[in-house]
Amino acid sequence: MAAAHTHPVRIGLTGGIGSGKSTVGNMLATLGAVLIDADQISREATGPHGAAMGAIRATFGDEYVDASGALDRPRMRELVFRQPNARAQLESIIHPLVTQQSSLHAQQAVAAGAPLIVHDIPLLAESGRWARQLDAVLVVDCSTDTQLERVVRRSDLALDVVRGIIASQASRHTRRAIADVVITNDADCSLDALQDQVGQAARLFGL
Ligand code: ADP
Repeated sequence: MAAAHTHPVRIGLTGGIGSGKSTVGNMLATLGAVLIDADQISREATGPHGAAMGAIRATFGDEYVDASGALDRPRMRELVFRQPNARAQLESIIHPLVTQQSSLHAQQAVAAGAPLIVHDIPLLAESGRWARQLDAVLVVDCSTDTQLERVVRRSDLALDVVRGIIASQASRHTRRAIADVVITNDADCSLDALQDQVGQAARLFGL
């Protein structure tokens, strides 16, 4: 008989925009973790003929579906702005699909013998629904100034827009409150130093 099947550790990875969350996720993947990206799954579900599109069409109407069969994002943004309840409706369609798809990916990773599964969940601190699926939460943290500086450098978003995005996300305090492990990735943290912290976290999680 094959050796007893041990369950991989499942962790949630989160951090504000520009914290370095994706960089940390990629480092963990290089160390052998399987990365499951909630944002990517959500984009696929609302992409051309994605899994959410039938319900979106039925709930909001044909005019919210573009010619490719994808969610018409600008139009939906406008609706959500005018009618905040629409966001909750949209989320009630998308979130269960993201959960379902993430579980499926996780099951595949388990079957493939992955030692560590990392769920990259940008809004983990904002959403209670993940807690029972995760063994631990890893938060990437840095100062708001560092977030601003990184995001402005990598995109052409204006400072005010980035400030608005940061303000709309969970505060550092809220995010740290749900953390089992915090990686501090401030402006004075080199990529090598970040890699060291990621290595330590990975060992904690059994990699
Ligand atoms: P997030 O996924 O949290 O939005 P990213 O991982 O994409 O953030 O990082 C934002 C930007 O900052 C990227 O261009 C990344 O390469 C850079 N970066 C992140 N951490 C460091 C670091 N410790 N040293 C140098 N550059 C970094």
